[in-house]
Amino acid sequence: MMAGTSTVPTIRAGGAATDCVAALRRRLSLLLLTLLGVATAAVGDANCAVIEDKPVARGRRIGLRFDPGSIAPARVEAAVGLWRQCRNFGSGFPEIVGAGAADRLVVVEHRPSEAGPGRCGSFVGSRIVLWGSQRQPDGTVRPCGALEQNLAHELGHVLGLVDAPRGGTCSRRIMARLHRGNLGSRRVQPDECMAVGQLWLTPVEMGRMAAAPSVRRVTSR
Ligand SMILES: [Zn+2]
Repeated sequence: MMAGTSTVPTIRAGGAATDCVAALRRRLSLLLLTLLGVATAAVGDANCAVIEDKPVARGRRIGLRFDPGSIAPARVEAAVGLWRQCRNFGSGFPEIVGAGAADRLVVVEHRPSEAGPGRCGSFVGSRIVLWGSQRQPDGTVRPCGALEQNLAHELGHVLGLVDAPRGGTCSRRIMARLHRGNLGSRRVQPDECMAVGQLWLTPVEMGRMAAAPSVRRVTSR
């Protein structure tokens, strides 16, 4: 879903010294655009990382609740670990933790012996469901591959990303749809980290904004 947007900020890598100011400028621009009601979809390199068209969300922690009897905690941790590799994990967007103190609680269900309806995972409301295989339109059943990656993909939806556009250049993104060619090879990529960071306003960022002397607010014309 590319959401018909009029504003599509492109994210580029910058020098470390300018990253902070650039990030603050992006954040302030995003807030201004949100206030103006302008769509806030953003894309990264090759347009593979796409965020939902919705206002900035506030949060610090997303908690996961799951039955350790149906999904091993180590596998949940491995899925979260893929997102933890983001430089802005916990600062630019919420950290993901086990159930406990959290701004939002998400339930994770694992149904390893069931075939999902044409998919290996879903995220609806506050519930992630992961299946062991997926039923194809022709009735055949295909295995879903690495549970950690499938969960990390659904966590990407929790964080606000939509499925990556189809195509070879995006197929290694964690948000790529699963197919035979990328079974087991999807990873969280830097542009996905950056895109998620655009959607969230965390206490860390609020503190940075308050402390930044070089940022001033302007009114739109
Ligand atoms: Zn998806």
